[in-house]
Amino acid sequence: MTDHLVQLSYLAAAALFILSLLWMSHPSTARRGVRAAEIGMLLAIVGTLVRHEIVNYEIIALAFLAGSAIGVPLAYLMPMTAIPQRTALSHAFGALATGLIGTAEYFRLTGMDVAPSPLVMSALMFEMFLGFLTCTASIMAFGKLQEIMPTRPMIFPLQRALNVSIFIATIAAAIALVVLPAGPVLFGVFVGLALVFGVLLVVPIGGADMPTVIALLNAYAGLAASAMGFVLNNKLLIITGALDGSSGFILAVIMCRAMNRSFANVLFGGFGQLQTSAAGAAEDRTVRSLAPDETAMTLENAQSVVIIPGYGMAVAQAQHKIHDLYQQLTQRQALVRFAIHPVAGRMPGHMNVLLAEANIPYDALVEMEDINPEMPMTDIALIVGANDVVNPAARDDPKSAIAGMPIIEADKARSVMVVKRSMGKGFSGIENELYFQDKTHMLFGDAKDYVGSVVKELASTAA
Ligand code: NAP
Repeated sequence: MTDHLVQLSYLAAAALFILSLLWMSHPSTARRGVRAAEIGMLLAIVGTLVRHEIVNYEIIALAFLAGSAIGVPLAYLMPMTAIPQRTALSHAFGALATGLIGTAEYFRLTGMDVAPSPLVMSALMFEMFLGFLTCTASIMAFGKLQEIMPTRPMIFPLQRALNVSIFIATIAAAIALVVLPAGPVLFGVFVGLALVFGVLLVVPIGGADMPTVIALLNAYAGLAASAMGFVLNNKLLIITGALDGSSGFILAVIMCRAMNRSFANVLFGGFGQLQTSAAGAAEDRTVRSLAPDETAMTLENAQSVVIIPGYGMAVAQAQHKIHDLYQQLTQRQALVRFAIHPVAGRMPGHMNVLLAEANIPYDALVEMEDINPEMPMTDIALIVGANDVVNPAARDDPKSAIAGMPIIEADKARSVMVVKRSMGKGFSGIENELYFQDKTHMLFGDAKDYVGSVVKELASTAA
C-alpha cells in the first residue's frame, strides 16, 4: 500500500514538473508553473519520506534544519539582481549532495558480499564525476559572478594540455573502478581529480559567458541526478534529472545563440577579456546631457519610442516608473514598445519578469530580432540602465571583447537617450561609443529617480 502511494506521488510529481516547464515558458502562465513545481517538489519529498527504506528520521530532520538555516536567509537576503550567483550556489550544493550520495552508495556497494555490476558502477562513476565537477565549477562561477574572483578569463601556458590530461586521468580512474570496484585510494584520487577538473573548467571562462556556463552546469547537475536515479533505482530522480539536464542544455544553446557563440567557443575561447578602448578615456571626451524637464519635453513630441531596459533598471527597481512613463506616452498616442535583449540584466528572462511585475502589456515587449528592423523608423531609443546590449562595438569592432554578440541597434534610431548614473561601464567592462554620438543624450541619474521626475513633468503637462 505504502509503495503504491509512493509511486503515485512520484508520478504526480513528474507530471507536475513537466507541466511546470510548459507553463513557465510564457510570462502569463509562469506563476502557475512555479506553483506546480513547488507542489511537485512537496509530493516528491513526502513520497520519499514515507518509503520503507528510510531508517533514521532524526538525521533527516537535522539535515532539513541545517539546509533551511542556509537556504531561507539566502532566499531573502540575496537581491533579485544576484539570482545568477544564487543559482550557481544552489547548483554547487545540489551537486555536492549528488557526489556525497554517490560516495555513500560506493562504500555501501563495495562493502557487500557480491561485487556491484559494471552497469551500476558505470552509472555511479558518471554520476560522481558530474556531481563533483559541477560542485567546484559552480563555486568558481559563483566567485566570478559575485566578483570575489577576477571575472576575466584566467589563462596560463599549457592550460588546455593540463585540462585534457586531468580529464583523461579522471576517466581512466573511473574505468579502473568499474573493473575493480574495491579501491578506496583510487576512489579518493578519482574524486580529487573530478573536483580539480571542475575548477580548471571555469577558470579560463570570462564573466560575460557565465550565464551560458550556469545553464551548462545546470544540465550537468541534471544528468548526474538522472544517473543517480539508475543507481538508486528511483524513477522520479531519472525523470527529473532528465528534465533538468535537457532544459539546461536547451537554455545553454539559447544563450549561445543570443551571444552568437558556439559551445566550444564558450568553453575554450577565453571570451570576455577586458580590453582597453581604442578611443580616448571617457573622461577626456564630451557628451550631451539633458535634465528631466528637457527629456519630458522631447518625449512629448515623439511618435514612436522604443524603451531598451537593462541591468540598471533592475538595480534601481525602476520598472514601475517605466510603467508610468509608458502610460503617459501612450496617452499621448505615441507608439511605445520595449526591446528585449536575451541577455539583458543578469539572468535569462530578467527584463520580462520585471516588466511583467509592473504590468506592462506582453504585446508591448518585442524580441531583439523583431525590433531591430524597426529602429531606423523610431523617433527615440530610450535606454534605461542597459549598456553592453546596445554597444555598437559588438557589431562594428571585431577586436572588441563582445565582438559578435547581437545587439539592439539603438544607434540606428533617429535619436538616442540613455538613463544611467555616470559614464560607468557595463558588465563586460568596455567603453560604449554610442554615448559620444551626436544623436545621443545622456540622462544622468538613478533610473528610478530620473524616470520618476520625467513622469512627474509629463503628468503636470497632461491636464
Ligand atoms: P550592463 O552592460 O551590465 O550595464 C548596466 C548599466 O546600468 C551600467 O553601465 C550602469 O551604469 C547602469 N546602472 C547600474 N545601476 C544603475 C541605476 N541604479 N540606475 C541607472 N543605471 C544604472 O547591462 P546590460 O546592457 O543589461 O547587459 C547585460 C550584461 O550582463 C551582458 O554583458 C551580459 O552578457 C551579462 N550577463 C547577463 C546575464 C543574463 O543571463 N542576462 C547573466 C550574467 C551576465 P552606471 O554605473 O553609469 O549607472
